[in-house]
Amino acid sequence: MKEFIFTMDNKKYHTLNYHNKTVYGKRVFKASIDAGFDCPNRDGSVSNGGCIFCREKSAYFTKGYSSDDIKNNIIMQIEKEKSRIFEKYPDSGIIAYFQAGTNTYGDIDKLKTAYYAALSCGVDGISIATRADCLGDKVMELLAEINNKTKLTVELGLQTVNDNTAVIINRGYPFSVFLKGYERLQENNIRTCVHIINGLPGEGYEDMINTAKTVGKLSPGGIKIHLLHVNKDTPLCEMYNRGEYTPLTKEEYIDIVVKQLEYIPPETVIERITGDGDKRYLIAPLWSRDKISVLGGTDKRQSELKSFQGKALEENE
Ligand code: SF4
Repeated sequence: MKEFIFTMDNKKYHTLNYHNKTVYGKRVFKASIDAGFDCPNRDGSVSNGGCIFCREKSAYFTKGYSSDDIKNNIIMQIEKEKSRIFEKYPDSGIIAYFQAGTNTYGDIDKLKTAYYAALSCGVDGISIATRADCLGDKVMELLAEINNKTKLTVELGLQTVNDNTAVIINRGYPFSVFLKGYERLQENNIRTCVHIINGLPGEGYEDMINTAKTVGKLSPGGIKIHLLHVNKDTPLCEMYNRGEYTPLTKEEYIDIVVKQLEYIPPETVIERITGDGDKRYLIAPLWSRDKISVLGGTDKRQSELKSFQGKALEENE
């Protein structure tokens, strides 16, 4: 098997570690921020219920400042995260990660204040997690402005390209809307990381492979592959308790991920292949707590199958 070049640790996929060391010349960590932005899928604009797997807010984020004082709130959160990270890795870089809620949704001046507050902390980059249906003209203008000032990544939670599944999970928009948002980001040269989820209700192996194939064809800057977690106090948890949802086994998940990677171009950074669910709320599948075994299992399966990222694309050339 030929050597896979986008890795420094002998992996067969383009690791985030490789990307960060190549782009920043050092290890880079994300400082997670809750800027207090809501989500149109929760506040009634699109729906009230939210995606069926989503907990309203994680308790992880730092509290203590009024949400009206958005600038200080964000600076405080980043500085706290920096101290935590630098204590262990003093020479690392920091990316301000607007993670909670929909971070391009809200008053444009508030968004601007939030992004500029992050920039004022001397971060190495900014990542903004959002929905593809929240990328209007003013937001795009602002994102383009921020993109000129730092290394910006916009993270889009697609989950699946299957519109039937999108209805089941209550995503609130079809794939065509995702494509429009994605294309607008590319027109503005904004690096985009697409999130997909394996194990969504109603989806089989072929659906998940099809999502990877379709997203792979877009050649995004990054992809995060998640496992669907059943968390406490979510509609998905109710489905699970009623026996209407069965999570993937570890072996199934690994086999799917290995096949999906074959359809993703080697230049796309695989920013994640396991979820980092909040252990306090996780109901199932409990095997996902052991990230090392999922990562190791993926390496092992790739090696057994002589598989690597982009393999299917090479074969089709
Ligand atoms: S779009 Fe994101 S924040 Fe909004 S309900 Fe879905 S998962 Fe939750």
